[in-house]
Amino acid sequence: MKDVCGALLAVTLWVSVASFRHHYRNNSELNTLLNDMETSHSHLARVYSIGKSVKETDLKVIQLSGPNVSIGTPHVKLVGNIHGNEPLGRELLLRLADYLISGYESGDDEAMAILDKMYVHILPTMNPDGFAEALEGECVNGPGRRNANEKDLNRDFPSHKYPSDTMDPVQPETAAIMEWMYKYPFVMSAAIHGGALVANYPYDVAKTKGSRAPEDHKTEDNDMFRAMAFNYAEEHGHMADSKECPDSNDQHKFDRGTTNGAAWYSFTGSMGDYNYDYHGCLELTLELSCCKYPGDHELEKHWNDNKKALLSFLKYSQQGVKGVIYNGTDEPVSKAAVSIYGRKQVHYSTENGEYWILLLPGKYWLEVEKFEKKIFRKITVPDSPFDNPLILNLDLATAAAEDYPQPSDFEPEQDNTGDFLMVGVDRKDAQEYEEIHEAMVNERKNMNEDERYDDETLPYPGDSRAADTYRLNSFICIICSIFSLLFCK
Ligand SMILES: [Zn+2]
Repeated sequence: MKDVCGALLAVTLWVSVASFRHHYRNNSELNTLLNDMETSHSHLARVYSIGKSVKETDLKVIQLSGPNVSIGTPHVKLVGNIHGNEPLGRELLLRLADYLISGYESGDDEAMAILDKMYVHILPTMNPDGFAEALEGECVNGPGRRNANEKDLNRDFPSHKYPSDTMDPVQPETAAIMEWMYKYPFVMSAAIHGGALVANYPYDVAKTKGSRAPEDHKTEDNDMFRAMAFNYAEEHGHMADSKECPDSNDQHKFDRGTTNGAAWYSFTGSMGDYNYDYHGCLELTLELSCCKYPGDHELEKHWNDNKKALLSFLKYSQQGVKGVIYNGTDEPVSKAAVSIYGRKQVHYSTENGEYWILLLPGKYWLEVEKFEKKIFRKITVPDSPFDNPLILNLDLATAAAEDYPQPSDFEPEQDNTGDFLMVGVDRKDAQEYEEIHEAMVNERKNMNEDERYDDETLPYPGDSRAADTYRLNSFICIICSIFSLLFCK
């Protein structure tokens, strides 16, 4: 009898999750739904709390992944409702969780591929107290934007650039996000807002201190950020259309539904800047509805607009290079500094020796540093990494047996010479070290000109409209050349 009751309960929960209904859930309904998803699909879902809001509501996360994920699987996070009066993200993220779970259970190829290749951590609401004050249908400036201490959580994070502007103790919701990020090595993230229709990427903080003028402020990973933002806008139902929010003064400023944060308007203490500067995590700020708090009859339409874009966004977690750092055959190395030559961002390997760096297709120099050893490895990031990711495991012990590199080692025709080691470069070796670096800088310059995606001019993967224009331009160019060869003196 007990078994029958258990089975009936499981079926009831499964049916309640399977028939997802769009409406705004209050905070306790939201947390109940997350718990139900975990109970009925415990092999795919795990629910945990990252802390509490000012009014003691649990900030609950649902983590989704296939049952067979292993070491090297990247972690991605999605955060909704940081501004309490912008709640579309709450419901979109719940629907996404439901879609991935039910898709996995029914054998849907895309849902299975996603959950077998990444951990998706979903925090539907970061500001439950603000949401409790907000009013459905308030499109511009309704109550509930801030938390219960009247603080704007997207102005509350520490800032590398202007630490003195963010010296106050952070809010409990902010602290919860910061602790969460020290616990999990998130590679990428999205935070969902409302009030515009745009994919916004860091930096949000002004380049020139005190400046109010909109001004592009790029990170060194601007190429990757732009690719992710363009892809979201293209895959979304309407984002790339500048006429979408007719009452907005800003929509015409956006570049096909994307913008650099500071180029739109600048401010200090954003969550996106914190993700990048403190953790090397690439976070997009997704503004997903012209109205901040659209009516619940519009939720189905918004899901249909965003479903493809959200699924496509998650796949970027496989883009770039990943692997495990070892020291000897089985011993993983934690806290090895992994970086891309020419970019300041340093990624530290996890306790399991894992590292991930998101990169567009192209050639790069990967640097790994630990125990006063430095390894350089030339890598080529492939074009379709979701099906064929670049996995590069490196062994510091083997590398120790290698000779010192010579500048000629960095010639392009000697791509596959393996790892290069530089052990505690001393004064005697300084000259050689300089030469090697000069060779590497020249190599990077050549790559920038000839081989790599150019940040401003060439199209990105997924940027189909730009790619079509590029192909058309190339075709016209060839026709013009043939014509001039035949007919011009
Ligand atoms: Zn917002």
